[in-house]
Amino acid sequence: MDADVIVVGAGPVGLFLAAELRLGGIRPLVVERLAEPSTERKARGIGVLATEALTRRGLGPQLAAAHEEGMRDFARDHGSSLGHFANIHKLLPDENRPRTHIWQPELERLLAGHAEVLGVPVRRAHRVTAIESGVDGLTAIVETPQGEQQITAAYLVGCDGGRGKVRSLAGFGFPGTPPLLRTIAGEVRLEGPVPPAGRYPDGTFLHSGSMAGVTEFARDGEPDGPVAPAEMAAAIRRVTGEDVTVAEVRESRRFADQARQADDYRRGRILLAGDAAHVHSPSGGQGLNLGLLDAANLGWKLAAVVRGEMPDTLLDSYFRERGPVGAAVLRNTRAQSALLAPGPQVDALREIVAELMDLPQANQYFSDLLSGVTERYEFPYLAEEPVGLHSPDKSLVDDDGRVTRLSDHTRTGRGVLVLDPESRGLAALATKRVEVVSATNTESFLLRPDGVIAWAGGEAELKVALDTWFA
Ligand SMILES: Cc1cc2nc3c(=O)[nH]c(=O)nc-3n(C[C@H](O)[C@H](O)[C@H](O)COP(=O)(O)OP(=O)(O)OC[C@H]3O[C@@H](n4cnc5c(N)ncnc54)[C@H](O)[C@@H]3O)c2cc1C
Repeated sequence: MDADVIVVGAGPVGLFLAAELRLGGIRPLVVERLAEPSTERKARGIGVLATEALTRRGLGPQLAAAHEEGMRDFARDHGSSLGHFANIHKLLPDENRPRTHIWQPELERLLAGHAEVLGVPVRRAHRVTAIESGVDGLTAIVETPQGEQQITAAYLVGCDGGRGKVRSLAGFGFPGTPPLLRTIAGEVRLEGPVPPAGRYPDGTFLHSGSMAGVTEFARDGEPDGPVAPAEMAAAIRRVTGEDVTVAEVRESRRFADQARQADDYRRGRILLAGDAAHVHSPSGGQGLNLGLLDAANLGWKLAAVVRGEMPDTLLDSYFRERGPVGAAVLRNTRAQSALLAPGPQVDALREIVAELMDLPQANQYFSDLLSGVTERYEFPYLAEEPVGLHSPDKSLVDDDGRVTRLSDHTRTGRGVLVLDPESRGLAALATKRVEVVSATNTESFLLRPDGVIAWAGGEAELKVALDTWFA
């Protein structure tokens, strides 16, 4: 075999997954069709759970350094530094569980560096065109500048984005809903008087600083590629009724809100992660949170299966856990699209939702919808909360009073068994894939490598949890 796992796509999800696989002690190989990293400023942030996932691997300081500029750009372009649901900017930040504003190219640079330090090989200008499945592994047919190559591996993960090929090559279904709305946006130079930004009867005109955008109902035969000044001017005229001279459009982007999810994330030795597994509108900035958490969930499991320490059936828990989370994001982005559609009825609904968001409990509800922190995985054993939830990055105080963060103990990608003074005897149960940490300021818990709490209870339950995830 040329590699244990072929990761198709060096986007953020592919890079993070490959790093997780390497941390798990196996040999990933990333193949990417682009010769150079993309500079397209798509996502401008990652959510709470993705911030915590990257912090667990030691990337917290780099994220914090990028956040200040990212936050400034977010506030400039949105006219508010508060989070939003359907562009209703009222969501209060959670100081204990922050999200990170970072432009996607910078995030990809950071993840590429992380993967490189771990020794992940990335082959650029390599485009996967076909996959042949065998009994013990598979072969990817790859188009390269030197001609066609065949690369063999035990598994292949399609992290090749929403328009990726792996999904169709492997025969995954991709049901969902077509676009309701479409948006064109970019950095613009407008000359002469500019109509006020806001909602109009036929669409929304966004304008803040040098950023402008137009959201309208989607039509058949939408153009692709960069947005031309004439196209932007025509869209502004359609929505506002005003003629605006658009002298320049830079860093243009166009996106729609089709919502689709693969009917499974695994077909034998082929798996999907990130946008390859689910697409939806960027409203609320949830795509990367979802994709990076797919990678966090799959990486350690696939590594354990390849190492031969866990049965192949462990991989079925990947879709069981991540499928419902993807569906929940599709649900809330569809709801946001309904609230972003033009029309007086929607105006009225937006006013009511905005009023609801002033209630502290409702505000928290909308924040939780977008962050996913209350989404709980279903495990094959009975357990109560917090089991099944992602743990925040708590501080831990050891017997000598030294304070560390939970993320100080997670860089190796192993599980962590945190034991309070009454439970120290349970340390003997831990396997070599689990680090034992003593703490005096918290009750005992077991953390999986993806930051999910797998146990918080008695000795018998701990044995079940260790057997399930770390046998
Ligand atoms: C305008 C816009 C704004 C957004 N804003 C946000 C936001 O604020 N927050 C957020 O979380 N998300 C946001 N998103 C979504 C976010 O950009 C995506 O969720 C994210 O890019 C998904 O990452 P990925 O690694 O799964 O896929 P991608 O980033 O699409 O990467 C896939 C990679 O696979 C490569 N590839 C494709 N086919 C092949 C092949 N056959 N062989 C080899 N390589 C291949 C591609 O070249 C690419 O590099 C936004 C998206 C858009 C369009």
